[in-house]
Parts: sequence; C-alpha cells; structure tokens
Amino acid sequence: MIDFLEEAYKRKDDILKDIETLCRIPSVLDESTAGEHQPFGKACREALDAMLEIGKRDGYQCKDVDGYAGHIDIGNHEDMIGVLGHLDVVPCNKNGWLTDPYQMVIKDNKLYGRGVADDKGPLIAGYYAAKIIDELNLPVKMKMRIIFGCNEESGSACMKYYFNHMPFPSFGFTPDAEFPVVYGEKAGVHFEIYGDVEKDNIIGIYAGTRANIVPEVCEAYVVGNYKQYKESYQQFLNDNHLEGTIEEEGNHTKFVLVGKSAHASLPEEGINAVTYMCHYLVSLSQNRLVHFINDCFYDDHYGQKLNIAYNGMMGPLTVNLGILQYKDGKVSATIDMRVPHEVTEENLVKNIEEKLEKYGLSQKHDMGKALYIDPESELVQSLHNAYVELTGDHTHQPQAIGGGTYAKSMPHCVAFGAGFPGVDYKIHQNNEEISIDDLLKATGIFAKAIYDLIKK
Ligand SMILES: [Zn+2]
Repeated sequence: MIDFLEEAYKRKDDILKDIETLCRIPSVLDESTAGEHQPFGKACREALDAMLEIGKRDGYQCKDVDGYAGHIDIGNHEDMIGVLGHLDVVPCNKNGWLTDPYQMVIKDNKLYGRGVADDKGPLIAGYYAAKIIDELNLPVKMKMRIIFGCNEESGSACMKYYFNHMPFPSFGFTPDAEFPVVYGEKAGVHFEIYGDVEKDNIIGIYAGTRANIVPEVCEAYVVGNYKQYKESYQQFLNDNHLEGTIEEEGNHTKFVLVGKSAHASLPEEGINAVTYMCHYLVSLSQNRLVHFINDCFYDDHYGQKLNIAYNGMMGPLTVNLGILQYKDGKVSATIDMRVPHEVTEENLVKNIEEKLEKYGLSQKHDMGKALYIDPESELVQSLHNAYVELTGDHTHQPQAIGGGTYAKSMPHCVAFGAGFPGVDYKIHQNNEEISIDDLLKATGIFAKAIYDLIKK
C-alpha cells in the first residue's frame, strides 16, 4: 500500500515554496495592461509564466495557450486525466488584511495570503499529486495534464479559449470547491428587468452593485416630510429587527435600510435590504415596481411567488434580487438565479414573463449551463472513496452547489476539494488562509484519487 499522505508530507517544503512564488504575483484581472498574449493583463501573464516555469524546472512538457491558460503534461500516454485550477485571484482590500496579501506568511501552521486557498494552493496540491505518481513510477495508463487558467474569477473566458484550441481530457476534476466531491452545479442565470412605471411619490430606490451578492443596504427617496413617516418606519424596523435611518433631504425623505449580505447561491443566509424596503414602501405608495418587488420577492428565496420554484436532486432553485436602480419612473434591476439542471430555460422564462407582464415590465437574460454528473458514476465514486479512505469521514456525502467552477468547461469533470467541510478559508475575503495540514492532506487525497482512476 502506498502512503500518499506521507508522500505529500515529504514534499512539504517544495509545495510551500511554489505556492509562495505564485502568491507573490497579484494576478487580478487588469484590462489596462491587457494585450496580445496577455488577455487578462500583465500580472495574470506573470502568474501563468511562473506556473509554466515550475513545470519546466521539473522536466515536464509545458504549453502556453496564448496567455489565456496553459498546461503541464506528466507522463506519455495519449489518453489523459485533467486537473484544472486557476491562477487569477480576486482583488484585496489591503486595509482589511493583517499581513501583506501578496506575501505568503506562515503562522501557527497556517498559510496566509491571497490565493493560498483559492486557487493557487489547491492547484499546486494537484500538481504535486501528479508529481508523486510520476516520481513513484506507478504503473498508469494515462498521462496527467495539469491545466491552469487566468480568468476564473471573471467569467472563465480562459477555459473557453483553451478548450477551443486543445482537446478534452477523458475526465478530470478541479480542486476549486470542497470535499468530499461536487457532482452538481446549478446553472447561473441573470435576468435584467427593465421598463417604465408611472412617476409617483417614490423618487428613487437604489441597492446593490453585484448581482451575485444579497444587497446589504437599500436607499429610497420619497416625496414628503420625514416626520409623517418617522413613526411607521421606526416601527417597521423594530418589528423586523432591522437597522436603518430616516432623514430629511431637501423637500423629500431619505430612507436607509440595512440588511445582511450573503452569496447569491445561499440567499437564505442574507437579509435582502431591497425586498424589506419595498415591503415597507407598499404602505406609502401605489408604485408598480414597489408592488412587483413586494409581491414577487419579499420573504421568498426560492421563487415560489414568481411561480418558478423547483427542488430536486441538486436542491432548490434560488433567487436573489441583487441590484436595483430606480429613478423617475425608470426601472433597472438584476436578478441572480441558480437553477437545477431539470428546469428548462423555456419554462423558466415563460413563467417569469407572465409575472412581469402583469406589472408592465420586461426582461433580458443570459443563462449558463448546469452541471450534473451521476453521483453513482465511476468518477464521483472514485474521488469520494479516495477522500473517505484518507480522512475516515463517512459523514459528508457528494453534494450539489449553486456556484460554478471550471468543471462546467469540459465533459466528465467535477469539483473536488481542496476545502474540507465546515472549515472557513476566508475565500474572497480579507486574510485568506489554509492550514498546512489541510493542504498536504488534499495533496495526498488528490494523488490517491488520480492513481485510482488511471492505474493499469
Ligand atoms: Zn476559485
């Protein structure tokens, strides 16, 4: 029996050094330095070069696919397994960090730095997993292709380009989510709602800047002196345990309501400031938009009121009214939905249009695709078994999520690790971290999983 965990620990220093090298590059999308062979800017190009350099250093065949993505081939067979990770990161608010986000720091057996958990650390873990199999000379029937892109955080144009120019591996995984294994990812869809409503006492309503976040703050401007609203608004805030303010602004009143932000794929974890604001405003106004939002979104994260609710193998369809801009009768709103694979675009759009018609509003939408791999398939089962064998965790089961990963960009691919269930790695937040033990455990699990799938 090969002890893959021990093999991972033997390579600890090299693994940490390579993550440190990647972490030093602030590979955030930067259109201002984009150009030929660096479509996502200079820093993403540097990160790609650094990763290719790691492969060359170790004597492997490497390929740069025009600065969009690249790969490292380990082994010689024609057939291959793919391991997909990303080199780009989300921006940092340096004020919120206790250390320099672009200097990997080791403290209390943990790594701190932008990308250590999403996704530079897990990508390096996947690379070393393949390297372990290679260095142990294990008998395999496929080569291992480590594929890395530079645009996962802003739409994955990298993988679209890459697979337009490169063949699909037979199957693969992307260490960019959670263990045990993710067999399903809902389809993401954004509905832009627009139109005109009659001008009335509601002057403006504003909330949210990103559709994929539950809006935390909503502002509304209403005709009339604040004194007439003060008592009822305060009562409303108290009844709903919300924070907010009301004040005079010129000859109108400014309302602010503070809810709680959350990721759009888990809207029930947030408090949508817009829907609560509109729930209050219906008592003051006949405004069609306000009534639309109250009737169709208030206290409903799952589309019941829009007549689109669905709950299947992948869990519920979720709805987040993420952005609202309303001024002088003009409506612009964006809704982020996460849709299980059983729901068709046609049905979804038909039901939403029926609702919108009643309020005189229109929609445009852009729907991605869902991913669903049979949880009983060999791929999902093998990955899950590798996880169980190295962790002893029989409790957590393969799952479906609302987010989207690189797994959607090729057939027979799922997200696998590198996060362990219940651990907060502060992904996309300040002070992103991962424990060295989690990272090495993931490396061992990846090595075992790859070997089980490709051994002779
Ligand atoms: Zn990621």
